Amino acid sequence: MVTGRFAPSPTGPLHFGSLIAATASYLEAKTQQGQWLVRIEDLDPPREQVGAANEILKTLDSFGFEWDAEVMRQSERHGAYETALTQLKHQGLVYRCTCSRKEIADSALQGIEGVVYPGTCRHAQHQSGAWRVLTNADVIGFDDAIQGHQSQNLSHDLGDFVLKRADGLYAYQLAVVVDDAEQGITQIVRGADLLSSTPRQIHLQRLLKLPTPHYAHVPIAVNAQGEKLSKQNLAQPLNAKNPVPALWQALDFLGQHPPTALRDESLESLWDWAKTHWSLAHVQAIKIST
Ligand code: GLU
Ligand code: ZN
Repeated sequence: MVTGRFAPSPTGPLHFGSLIAATASYLEAKTQQGQWLVRIEDLDPPREQVGAANEILKTLDSFGFEWDAEVMRQSERHGAYETALTQLKHQGLVYRCTCSRKEIADSALQGIEGVVYPGTCRHAQHQSGAWRVLTNADVIGFDDAIQGHQSQNLSHDLGDFVLKRADGLYAYQLAVVVDDAEQGITQIVRGADLLSSTPRQIHLQRLLKLPTPHYAHVPIAVNAQGEKLSKQNLAQPLNAKNPVPALWQALDFLGQHPPTALRDESLESLWDWAKTHWSLAHVQAIKIST
């Protein structure tokens, strides 16, 4: 059974950028008679907006998305993340790190997301601090269905990365891996801003003996300044009362060439057309500069 998912963070209302990921993941699952699930990634309370999760679900509903199981919420999953971390502790694959941001910045090794953590605390046996997972120099590669072959050397490109912060917050990389496995996700279709996170997630899947899903990273919509549309730079929230123009535009952005006439048709006709004509092969790859 094919199972896809959409996993928004409730930092604000849905905008056009999120609609693209939702639409692509939905159509890719539904056109294979698969299931499509929704997960609210409310992992980082300070970044969240009160009411945003429910607002997101209402908007998805008014756009005609139908999810096939109860919505999973990461705020209710801390036990599962702790269990995964404990499993890694027993295997000696994680350690505590007390380095400050400044100490890490001073290491001056540049990686793909700023500085590489140089492994300072690997053998220190600290009793407090963040939990980091060991990485190594094995190249982790995967074939992205849109972006083609990708690979990373985690120890060189990032260094040992954080799974649980010193303040107790679980890291996205750990939560996403545990939850995708729990929900039985077989294919992940999401924005290309997460392409470079994928090798870290595959690394964790291997350490935790979890299956690796198929990946497809759709291009990111940018504003006139070339910035990613995000809730932070206040991209227009989607208008739940008038879903057809935005959905039509999302399909167009995804390279599907929806007929112009469908802009004046019902939401149902637009979805019918999309489900009949959807082709992941028509989604454009992006140029990634790293
Ligand atoms: N919660 C993440 C976001 O909203 C998406 C995570 C994922 O799709 O893996 O950017
Ligand atoms: Zn450290």
